[in-house]
Amino acid sequence: MDYLMFCDYCGMPKPIGEHIMREYFWIASHVYCNNCDKPNEIPKELQEIARQMSRDYYEKNE
Ligand SMILES: [Zn+2]
Repeated sequence: MDYLMFCDYCGMPKPIGEHIMREYFWIASHVYCNNCDKPNEIPKELQEIARQMSRDYYEKNE
């Protein structure tokens, strides 16, 4: 399932795929809008979910 973030500047929804959550989101602090290229801060809750997803994924595949 994809997560959805809305741009703070232009309101454009940005779908965040599981792979991006797992590999990138929990170490990144900002994500750039596809539409206006402005940096949006990644919410703490989403980072926490991403960290958990990454942990679960790599534990399963070890
Ligand atoms: Zn935008």
